Amino acid sequence: MNNIIQLLPDAIANQIAAGEVVQRPASALKELLENAVDAGATQIQVLVKDAGKQLIQVIDNGKGMSPTDARMSFERHATSKIRTSQDLFAIRTFGFRGEALASIAAVAQVELKTRQADSELATLIQIEGSELKKQEPISAPVGTSVAMKNLFFNVPARRNFLKSNPVEMRHIVDEFQRVALSYPEIGFTLYQQDLETYNLTPGKLSQRIVGLFGKSYQGQLVPCEEVTPHLNVTGYIGKPEHAKKTRGEQFFFVNNRYIRSSYLHHAVSSAFEGLIQADQHPFYVLFLEIDPAHIDINVHPTKTEIKFDDERTVYAVIRSAVKQALGAHHVMPALDFSVDVNFQENWTKNPETAVQVDREYSYKTFNTPEFKKSSVSGWEKLFEGNFENAPKYPGQSHPREEQEILTFPSRASGDESRLVIQPSEQEATGTTFQVELSYVVAQMSTGLLIVDQQMAHERILYERYIKQLATHQGASQQCLFPPTLQLNPADFALVMDMLPELFSLGFVVEEFGKDTVLIQGVPADVQVKNEKELFEGLIEQFKNFKSELSLDKRENLARSLSRKSSLKKGQKLNSQEMETLVGQLFACQHPNYSPSGNKTFVKLDLTSIHAFFGK
Ligand code: ADP
Ligand code: MG
Repeated sequence: MNNIIQLLPDAIANQIAAGEVVQRPASALKELLENAVDAGATQIQVLVKDAGKQLIQVIDNGKGMSPTDARMSFERHATSKIRTSQDLFAIRTFGFRGEALASIAAVAQVELKTRQADSELATLIQIEGSELKKQEPISAPVGTSVAMKNLFFNVPARRNFLKSNPVEMRHIVDEFQRVALSYPEIGFTLYQQDLETYNLTPGKLSQRIVGLFGKSYQGQLVPCEEVTPHLNVTGYIGKPEHAKKTRGEQFFFVNNRYIRSSYLHHAVSSAFEGLIQADQHPFYVLFLEIDPAHIDINVHPTKTEIKFDDERTVYAVIRSAVKQALGAHHVMPALDFSVDVNFQENWTKNPETAVQVDREYSYKTFNTPEFKKSSVSGWEKLFEGNFENAPKYPGQSHPREEQEILTFPSRASGDESRLVIQPSEQEATGTTFQVELSYVVAQMSTGLLIVDQQMAHERILYERYIKQLATHQGASQQCLFPPTLQLNPADFALVMDMLPELFSLGFVVEEFGKDTVLIQGVPADVQVKNEKELFEGLIEQFKNFKSELSLDKRENLARSLSRKSSLKKGQKLNSQEMETLVGQLFACQHPNYSPSGNKTFVKLDLTSIHAFFGK
């Protein structure tokens, strides 16, 4: 009997292994860049020709290799980076499998030049399809240069599978960006056909981001940082208005290694919820530092996937880090005012609104989440004074003679400061005014604040409804003549499915025969002219959002109802209403944007005003 099982010759084994490591020019670039970083380089140069099909060369000024190591580096499983299986669990360097150079040399023509600092001469090695062609001493600078030529020259089938140059180049740039982002302290250059594409000088992460993505990123980055005992998150997120419809500028690095994770991506996007549209993607570059013992990076040969011991905690920490960063960014304009004493005076001493201040308070207090619901119920009440035809409902009385008391718990002092507003029928001509019945302009001594009344009110209501949906505390006003509403079967099913959520918002809706509902009550804080119209409109809006965006039920309801019941353009406001609107806006967690991502206000600071006049 003949034995037919044989060991594969090395060259073939390498070619097969190469298939895992080197799928395209970009994957070779990634390995070569990582080797250069591992070698301690401070300057790395990349040369690309014909989208890497002809040449990918990486030149570094790292520690170089001895002649023996240079030869060894092309052997499979030859690595200087781990020695025992224990080391596998403490991997900090990029490479560790010792198969990149062997794989590349199996499917390309490779020329290596390398020199250590303490040796006079460098080593040159040429290898083609795993076959050593030349090894000799030459003179070359300290460091290593690896040139990979004619990838897949000996595997024509695979060469034919390479994509067009633009596609392959895109992959190359992606890999380059990832490594360049994770090492801002290293200088990188990239040349395509001898033309310089990138020249990134060593610097801070923010400078690196701008260097890679362009000047427009300046001023669009919000720092993000969260330190916990098991996991640190640092990096930058893009401001919500900078979000794009296309993906590609989302980067996670775990212990400086680029990874892909739709689960963690979700953690970031969910923190942006309500700030950007559902089809937009925020920019982010986030670095996670975690004890290597708690991760497994070896689940995928190209190592962009990763397993965490405790994925949920990682998710929660990232989400909270991003939320905090967004919060800090959003309160910024308000914090600006808080240091401004004059603004306080303008705000509090406005004679038109007969405001008295018991104790000193700063504008900052508007930002406290504790800005109580009770304290701002004045908005609707104040508002009602302006609504001649607003229907009155039993149980909703608010004697006008009484003073409305708005309380602002002060974050600084920890106790409550009181702002007493006497309702006034008078029209104000003070420091706030309306433009085009659409924008509220408030004066500050540092400039002007211009608020989009509709967007601002949508934001205020949205946050209120989200809260009510969570706490089931939406107050209801009873309808005097409860209307019935005949729906189509699909809408009827939709409404029945949402009854508990509708109830949380203050709707009291009952089944009333086939496909018909009876509207007993509507949210107390909504100015209703026609309950039926309100409810139908809500369902309509809900369905629109549902087809456009993949929102969950509550999120959709909160958005729909705030869209439906917000103040609209063209509605006249008196000065108290304007001030309450602005006050409530800044009491929101995310005052800068409407739930669907439109700006709620802009600040025109004095510097820009001066600049208009060339001062
Ligand atoms: P790994 O990086 O997984 O160890 P590689 O095949 O990528 O495997 O490299 C094999 C070895 O060659 C490395 O462990 C390292 O010692 C050496 N090496 C590769 N590239 C460089 C470089 N640019 N500078 C110095 N040494 C290098
Ligand atoms: Mg390597």
